Amino acid sequence: MAPTTQITPAPANNVRDSSKTQISAAKSNPHFNKEKTSIRGLVAELLSCPNPDKPLVSLGVGDASLYPCFHQGQDSTKILTSAISSGRFVSYAPSFGLPPARRAVAEYLSWGMQQGIKEEDVYLMVGGTQAIQVCTMALAARSGANLLIPRPGFPLYEAKCGLVGIEPRFYDLVPENGWELDPAQLRAIADHNTVGLVVISPNNPCGVAYSSSHLLQIAETARDLNIPIIADEVYGHMVFGGGMFVPMASFAHIAPVITIGSLSKRWMVPGWRFGWLAFSDPYGSLKQVKKATEMLMNILCGPPCTIQGAIPSILSYTSEDFHKNVIRILESSADTLFTRLEQIEALNCYSKPRASMFMMVEVKTDLLYGIENDMDFARELMKEESVLVLPGTVLGLKNWVRIFFGVPTELATEACERIESFCKTRSLLN
Ligand SMILES: *Cc1c(COP(=O)(O)O)cnc(C)c1O
Repeated sequence: MAPTTQITPAPANNVRDSSKTQISAAKSNPHFNKEKTSIRGLVAELLSCPNPDKPLVSLGVGDASLYPCFHQGQDSTKILTSAISSGRFVSYAPSFGLPPARRAVAEYLSWGMQQGIKEEDVYLMVGGTQAIQVCTMALAARSGANLLIPRPGFPLYEAKCGLVGIEPRFYDLVPENGWELDPAQLRAIADHNTVGLVVISPNNPCGVAYSSSHLLQIAETARDLNIPIIADEVYGHMVFGGGMFVPMASFAHIAPVITIGSLSKRWMVPGWRFGWLAFSDPYGSLKQVKKATEMLMNILCGPPCTIQGAIPSILSYTSEDFHKNVIRILESSADTLFTRLEQIEALNCYSKPRASMFMMVEVKTDLLYGIENDMDFARELMKEESVLVLPGTVLGLKNWVRIFFGVPTELATEACERIESFCKTRSLLN
């Protein structure tokens, strides 16, 4: 492309001196100059070295919607098609979302709750991802602010904190305690600059949904610390095997709750980019944060109007069979992985997964030949068996791996066989 600035006039002999017409390299935002291990970068590295004789089995990154078995009995596409053919949803939507769609989300979130959520408390977002962004931006009112986020966690929180300039402050999820958090640790790390507490339940990556009593304990801790709870419930209702989904907003009378939700996971349409942010704030302590959210949504753009047009039907349509089928496959794949991996001496699963699409598995590296850490485990497993798992280091937990079980059960079984064979070959116990 021709440079548009700093063009030196051509010399008299009409030969341009090209060394003088070049513009210097454009500077990028210095925030992006730091090299950080991203999940995508790491996965790309792992994917570059599979065993050429074995087809890839990917339990590394999560998109269950890639498998047709999860779409059985689904109506969303039909509903969206008729929203498109109606020709009605082609204009700009209001900044906070189309009123019928906001109302539908509010009603969906209010099911079974004493204190319902109102239409004006719901803001429509471009997936859970934008909801996280808006929420962190709206909360980060002062410099030096920090946000409490779980470890192991969902890396997007740390990344968004970086963008917004909030300090991420990690609290631990304890495997021996069903991946619950320790309120004493929250009290120890929070200070007067803490702007919120992120709670992910049902949890990615730990595969648990918190009980009512643990959520109550969390709400009481947040109340004592005088901070709102950001409840990431993008896996809401995705529980099985005796697990139960209790919305954090049930405890909003104790501490205010900002709920993050999404169509991506439960409805298997992550490409539609539809999610929401909902405020449960009976005492009005989040008024300013709500105002900031509104101002932000006037600047950013929400989800496409067409998708919003389909939302009332999608959320009110009781496609029981579709959701049941998804849960049945998730439970069967999770059980298969848990039962078989638990038998392997060098691995430890702690508790059976009961929610979401992920589980964490500990790697006892001292029992495996040539494996010093989770990175080695993932790389060697890829080289020998073409199975992709995510090293826990990127989630803040060394010598663990994250396993995605949103796959057909046959694939989970195949993965178990290959992981078993890998650990057997590498075992130092023989
Ligand atoms: C997938 C995911 C999100 C993001 O949801 P999208 O709707 O895909 O943007 C947020 N939080 C957690 C814990 C997730 O796993």
